[in-house]
Amino acid sequence: MKKIIILLGVPGSGKGTQAKGIAERYGYRHISTGDLLRALDADPAADPADKTLLADCMKTGQLVPDTLIYKLAFRAIDQALVAGIGVALDGAVRSVAQAEAHQEFFQKRGVAGDMVVIEPQLDDATSFERISKRKVCASCGHIIPYAPDNAAKTVCEKCGGKLAVRTDDNPEAIRRRIQDQGNAAIGPITAYYDSLGVLRRVDGKKTIEEVAKEIDYVLQEKA
Ligand code: AMP
Repeated sequence: MKKIIILLGVPGSGKGTQAKGIAERYGYRHISTGDLLRALDADPAADPADKTLLADCMKTGQLVPDTLIYKLAFRAIDQALVAGIGVALDGAVRSVAQAEAHQEFFQKRGVAGDMVVIEPQLDDATSFERISKRKVCASCGHIIPYAPDNAAKTVCEKCGGKLAVRTDDNPEAIRRRIQDQGNAAIGPITAYYDSLGVLRRVDGKKTIEEVAKEIDYVLQEKA
């Protein structure tokens, strides 16, 4: 199985949920740049220059500067690879420039041939609907994706904290995220990975379990 698994998709496509599932099923490390940025934002000891870079970007749904992403993502990937652990990257690649920078980084580490990119495909309207309805734990930050079974939940299954709506999940920020990270925006990135022959598409509209099955099938493909 490939060591580097990149999950690519529009907001709400399930890339985070599926990256977590891959990490659990295969002992991989789940690396979410969104989580790394939220941890940085909450860390009083973090580099003030990094915090300034973050500033209002996340709250308004804009992409944060590439330099900060590379600093956080590459460090986390290196730590896992050095420990001999594969990675499931969630949201780390959101532009062609970021795809190329990751590719260069993997080439330097000698793992560029050990990579697969998975796109749970979802249309923008369903993306908007799903993000508007998902919840987050106000205490531990655990994200509860929208699913019929989760609709009535008010308490976090992990820590018992109260569930709320993520601060960047307000309609204006969601619209902005779909403009920056929706299907029109990710088209050039999927074209880039298609040209490398590493892109696999799965149907992101299916249930979490069905998508996980499709992903398992892709991951078991022989190189
Ligand atoms: P997520 O939790 O993956 O939805 O990410 C939350 C927010 O973090 C995004 O809306 C962006 O503002 C920022 N972010 C996460 N990953 C990246 C990235 N690779 N490049 C730029 N901004 C990012």
